[in-house]
Amino acid sequence: MGQGELDYELITPSARIATATHGGRAKCLQRLLRLELPVPKTVAISFSGVHSIAAGNFEDLPEILSNFNNNDLLCVRPSSESPDWGGPSAIMNIGMNNLRYEELKQKLGADAASSIYINFVQAYSLHVARLDPDIFNPVETQNSAALAKVLEIYENETEHEFPQDITKQLSEILRSMARTWESTTARLLRQAKGAPLDAGLGLVIQVMAFGLGEGECGTGTLQLIDENDGKSKIKGRYKEQSQIRPEKSSEGALYLTKDDRGWSLEDNNEEIFRQLVEFATIMRLKLREEMQIEFSIQNGKLNILDGVRTPRRSQAAVRVAVSLAEDGIISRNEAIMRVEPRAISELLHRQIDPDADRDVLGSGVAASPGAATGKIVFSAEAAQSHASRGIDCILVRRETSPEDVRGMHAAVGVVTERGGITSHAAVIGRGIGLPCVVGVKDIRFQIKRKSLICNNGRQLKEGDEITIDGTSGDILFGSPKMVEAALDDAFQTLLEWTDEVSDMTVRANADTPQDALTARKFNAQGIGLCRTEHMFFESDRLTVMREMIFSKSAEDRRLVLERLLPMQRKDFIELFEIMKDLPVCIRLFDPPLHEFLPSDREGMHDLAEALGLPLSDVVRRVETMGEYNPMLGMRGVRLGVTVPEIYEMQARAIFEAIVQVSKEGISVVPEIMIPLVSAKREVELVKKRVASVASQVGLETSAEVNYKLGVMVETPRAALRASDIAMNSEFLSFGTNDLTQMAYGLSRDDAGKFMSQYVQQGVFQEDPFHILDPEGVGELVKLGADRARSIKPNITLSICGEHGGNPESIAFCHQLGFHYVSCSPYRVPVAKLAAAQVAISTQIS
Ligand code: PEP
Ligand code: MG
Repeated sequence: MGQGELDYELITPSARIATATHGGRAKCLQRLLRLELPVPKTVAISFSGVHSIAAGNFEDLPEILSNFNNNDLLCVRPSSESPDWGGPSAIMNIGMNNLRYEELKQKLGADAASSIYINFVQAYSLHVARLDPDIFNPVETQNSAALAKVLEIYENETEHEFPQDITKQLSEILRSMARTWESTTARLLRQAKGAPLDAGLGLVIQVMAFGLGEGECGTGTLQLIDENDGKSKIKGRYKEQSQIRPEKSSEGALYLTKDDRGWSLEDNNEEIFRQLVEFATIMRLKLREEMQIEFSIQNGKLNILDGVRTPRRSQAAVRVAVSLAEDGIISRNEAIMRVEPRAISELLHRQIDPDADRDVLGSGVAASPGAATGKIVFSAEAAQSHASRGIDCILVRRETSPEDVRGMHAAVGVVTERGGITSHAAVIGRGIGLPCVVGVKDIRFQIKRKSLICNNGRQLKEGDEITIDGTSGDILFGSPKMVEAALDDAFQTLLEWTDEVSDMTVRANADTPQDALTARKFNAQGIGLCRTEHMFFESDRLTVMREMIFSKSAEDRRLVLERLLPMQRKDFIELFEIMKDLPVCIRLFDPPLHEFLPSDREGMHDLAEALGLPLSDVVRRVETMGEYNPMLGMRGVRLGVTVPEIYEMQARAIFEAIVQVSKEGISVVPEIMIPLVSAKREVELVKKRVASVASQVGLETSAEVNYKLGVMVETPRAALRASDIAMNSEFLSFGTNDLTQMAYGLSRDDAGKFMSQYVQQGVFQEDPFHILDPEGVGELVKLGADRARSIKPNITLSICGEHGGNPESIAFCHQLGFHYVSCSPYRVPVAKLAAAQVAISTQIS
């Protein structure tokens, strides 16, 4: 122990070692000693000790060295609080000098002794003397002559003899490691990985247990799982007569267990192998984690040098957590807490192999996760034609509109020049699990010329193969290696466990039967938002829809809507059948009508032909329906008030559908939601009309028609007037996409262009369309929730904007006591995990 300040400790089972003061590695070594595993003697220097070493204080060094024998060689390794924060490289064989060299030559032979000394001189030169690594190239042989050369180079470069005194060597090494940790680069790197500003570094000094000598000698690593899928498998390598842990491809590396591909440690020495596996199993059980062991064997004696949490991919992380809980080693709650929501998201989609080379052409907003490779196409028609020939394609558009939806279904990925996280392409992409990158900055889109020009001058044409990474936002040339989606049994088990602890349910935003099936696959607990307008994008309906828009009178409109009614009814029947008795919230028609009209001359010509109208009529009508600011124009409930026939048709379709499915034994109480409300009177008007349709359907079918009517709070005024609005509503669902757009006065479709600059310059901490802004938009949500509850304490509250799938925003909704969150089907698993984690954290605190 250092002078009363715990600056250093010899690690023993009872020493005062803690991760928070000495780092994870020191604590782990102590745990291994407590398990009576053969760990070589180790001293741990605390964070404060390392800090004072950085300032030049070496008073304790002789005392530290007194723990070891005079001729021991030592190794120093970093020990920070989290292994993810990195640290300086380990340095081995400290104490090596000319005298020790002569002794080791007798014991191990000249080559082995030379190799130890050369490795040390090189590590010292690189990390302490800070010499250029190239000066030693090439040292191919490891013999006495090579050693003499290496020492000569050191002396020439530094103008000093290589230090022979272990105290000098160790003090220089410790100082160098301590200073490296405090350098600006290291600090920035670890902060990027979540380390606090004042994260400390501990160091462990351990006696070298050589893998060199007589009998069975060598060094290796072992783990009990496959790091890719987490399944049980003994993995690692062992190298005889070596101090350095071998890589998979190292020359002379042996397998651990018997293997058809070659010789193994088990073949060499079955008893040592059996002991090694036994130690690893004890570590898993007692350290409650899958551990990778670094070991050495010296003259037939096994030493455990180190234990680190086995590095693993996302699929393995889920399986490890589940299997530790299934084996009773950790609780189910702990298993849930151990999996990062991001890892779950990676499992749901194909990803680019992290080890693949990336030829990045440009990047944009990562709008819908997963990766896809395909040939570039520039129109929805081309996407459909490629798909019909079985060719994968990436749809490239300036931005997408309802007309592109069929092309998006046909493509394997979509890229748009414009847009942000809640733009059309992003929302549809997430809904159907299609990788999507929007708001691309570094590529010029020449849609008409069918080409893309990258900043570095590279040009891509229709038919060229690209890969999009919707998880990172990158667009890459060619087809890098992929890792497949992995929805295995462990993933399903974890999802089931989340339901046992969550106190907030997770629904899906699902518009089509396909979405609803996906939602069910991921155990969504209902539909929280069915955007009914998406049902009108099918080509047979689009024409009828357009005919309805062109109707001159309410009567004409009603007649056309009668043709849409059976189609809508069928849609709802299918949804109710898939969702069985789970709640389904249907939002009445929301977008501006002109979104359904063609935007180019060719489309207008086709429409004129379909409707039997002169082209000039169609052009004029399209022009008059244009709006300067359509997101704030004639949409949502404003259509419900001014063109009431649409909502009436939709209400009838919903009610007739529930009457129909009730005959099949499905009992649904549909939730009907009114979008873009800003005034109480809007709700009153729609409520009255919906009630009248319900009673008509009730009379016609002699069935009881039950439903709930609620409001989507997505304008700031609706949040402010939530008490008025709640009077006529059984539920309120916060539409935080529009609410964010209107609270900031920031266009959802254009923000992508400058969002990264705003985040980089710290104007916004995060893209507020991605993570709910807790201070501004969040305050509106809180205020709306409080005001609604002041009138109706038990009113059902939820969120259905894209934030409903984001872990931070879910925690915010949990804090406000919301009943459920609703998000795109492919985000449901992430949301369920996040909801369970926040429930567990709240229970704990
Ligand atoms: C919203 O505005 O938050 C919402 C869910 O509706 P949409 O994205 O369809 O506008
Ligand atoms: Mg909205």
